[in-house]
Amino acid sequence: MFENLSEKLERSFKILKGQGKITELNVAETLKEVRRSLLDADVNYKIAKDFTNRVKDKALGMNVLTAVKPGQLMVKIVHDELAELMGGKNVDIDVKGNPAIVLMSGLQGSGKTTFSGKLANMLKTKRGKKPLLVACDVYRPAAIEQLRVLGEQIGVPVYTDENSKDPVGIAQAAIRQAKAEGKDVVIVDTAGRLAIDEQMMTEITAIKKAIEPNETLFVVDAMTGQDAVNTAKEFNERLDFDGVILTKLDGDTRGGAALSIRTVVNKPIKFVGTGEKMEAIDAFHPERMADRILGMGDIVSLVEKAQEQFDAEEAKKLQKKLSKNQFNFNDFLGQIQQIKKMGNIKDLASMIPGVGKALKNVDIDDDAFKSVEAIIHSMTPMEREMPDIINGSRRKRIALGSGTTVQDVNRLLKQFEESKKMMKMLSGGGKMMRHMPGMK
Ligand code: GDP
Repeated sequence: MFENLSEKLERSFKILKGQGKITELNVAETLKEVRRSLLDADVNYKIAKDFTNRVKDKALGMNVLTAVKPGQLMVKIVHDELAELMGGKNVDIDVKGNPAIVLMSGLQGSGKTTFSGKLANMLKTKRGKKPLLVACDVYRPAAIEQLRVLGEQIGVPVYTDENSKDPVGIAQAAIRQAKAEGKDVVIVDTAGRLAIDEQMMTEITAIKKAIEPNETLFVVDAMTGQDAVNTAKEFNERLDFDGVILTKLDGDTRGGAALSIRTVVNKPIKFVGTGEKMEAIDAFHPERMADRILGMGDIVSLVEKAQEQFDAEEAKKLQKKLSKNQFNFNDFLGQIQQIKKMGNIKDLASMIPGVGKALKNVDIDDDAFKSVEAIIHSMTPMEREMPDIINGSRRKRIALGSGTTVQDVNRLLKQFEESKKMMKMLSGGGKMMRHMPGMK
């Protein structure tokens, strides 16, 4: 995400390296490069120009007051301005009410249905809500089916009425049902078109008027860059939505939409989608995003993700097993599954300061654990329970069964022993954790 922009910005700051002081000249030179980086990232021309003007004023104004190196000062100012450009602070969605109503809008293919599922799943698993999903696309039976499948996958009911051609009526009936059944959030997925057209706009505004949602969210594909920004503008003029959802940020290496949308529509980006899986949803934090763009990493999000996936009960059980030396390959497999739930490994790793850049050209398999899992699955139940019995001939059989080599199996057995030691250390009252920055 944003790799190109990160790299180009870094190059522009190099101009200031070795310079003792910020001057009109070196600032102008640096900011010319910064502006070019933003334009290459598909940021709107005026936004990029205003941005660099603000940075310039700040840099020249602060110069006399500080002993910080010019390069560092510039990074700090650009960082703060980037965060400001994206809205400054995170804005949560309002899901208070009985039921709270969330209306989705956006073009077809933007990721509305997928996001509806992700949001329902997040509200259910992280906030203890009881959502009801509503399929209001009366034109495409496939869209209704898609929502139904997602609902089933995440264990959230989906309200549908295939015989009705009246989306307002469907939404209203769904809300009545939610009330009757004690559901506390109703998420209404609507029909999108490939391009903005009058009928779609009329329909979505009519739905909004009839159901008075707490939140009207506009869903848009980040990969479409400036088109995303223009579409946002048109939807906002008609619909006056409350927040933006940027999807497919995992495929967006330029970042223009993320950087421009807030300024153009003056509405916060509330969530981003970072993959096709139901767990690939993140609250949008402008500060942290600025950190990531400038390669400063995003440890806070990483720790939060880890905590979200962290199951206290499981951890207790695990600790007991570790202390009794009973940690086995089934537990190991469980741990891998937890890590996988946190999302794309490369994205996760890039949240660690400095690592993003180092990994830029490294191809990390989306399923980096595939062979490890295959090896464990090729073990017999007894081998998984008691790894000590895995001798030479068993190793050969496991390698054969999993399509790997004996060396791979050996490596995994060694890793298993090491992670056992590591976890024992970490579970020893969290001593190490307390010494890590930001952890108390
Ligand atoms: P809708 O027409 O607006 O309801 O869009 P869909 O929810 O059907 O999404 C269109 C396509 O985009 C589907 O193939 C989704 O799997 C995919 N998609 C949605 N969100 C994301 C995301 O955050 N990342 C990626 N990589 N794909 C996504």
